[in-house]
This record gives sequence, C-alpha cells and structure tokens, in this order.
Amino acid sequence: MVEFCPECSSLLRKKLLDGKSYLACICGYKQEFGSNKDEIQKNIQEKKQALDDGLIIVSEKDKISVHPLVTRECPKCKHNEAEAWQEQTRSADEPSTSFFRCVKCKNTWREY
Ligand SMILES: [Zn+2]
Ligand SMILES: [Zn+2]
Repeated sequence: MVEFCPECSSLLRKKLLDGKSYLACICGYKQEFGSNKDEIQKNIQEKKQALDDGLIIVSEKDKISVHPLVTRECPKCKHNEAEAWQEQTRSADEPSTSFFRCVKCKNTWREY
C-alpha cells in the first residue's frame, strides 16, 4: 500500500511512534496507520474463508460421490489409501463382502 502526503504529495513513510504506526511525511504531516492492521486481518479472514470453502467443497464431494477412505494397501500399486464399501452377497446368511478401490490406480479388489 503506497500513500502520498495530502499536503505536499511526497511519498509517506511508515513510522512507529508510541507503539502506534503512522504514515509520516518529510514535511511533518503524519496520519495514524490503523487501517493497515485491519487490512491484514481482512486478508487473513478472506484466506481462511477461501480455505473453508475449499474444504467444504471437498467434504461435500466425498459424501456424495465416494465411499469412505480407509488405510488399505493396494495389491497392485502398493498405495495405502482406498475407498471401502460392503456389498451383501446373494444369500443373507453369507457374510457381506468388503470391496476396496485404490484411490491412486483405481484398482478394485475384495476381501471376504
Ligand atoms: Zn508532506
Ligand atoms: Zn493402486
């Protein structure tokens, strides 16, 4: 942020006086520099917001389109993260089958 002196149009310089920031000019003009802090705060807020938004989108997508991720080593590429879900086999007295799909190579396998 560059500010110019309203008195003489020189470039204002940041100065710290009594713990407060000022924009000061060589002509003696100075103004309190409070807005800078707000500006930074605002930037942080916006970044946080963007991050939150991103996370929300990711988690929503996860909920809708993919199965929960579990730690499972892919037999094909050895990546250790896979989607997991279960499917009931034809007869109800048989145990359900667990399916896994590698998040990296999309290899699908099952465990009984
Ligand atoms: Zn000035
Ligand atoms: Zn894999």
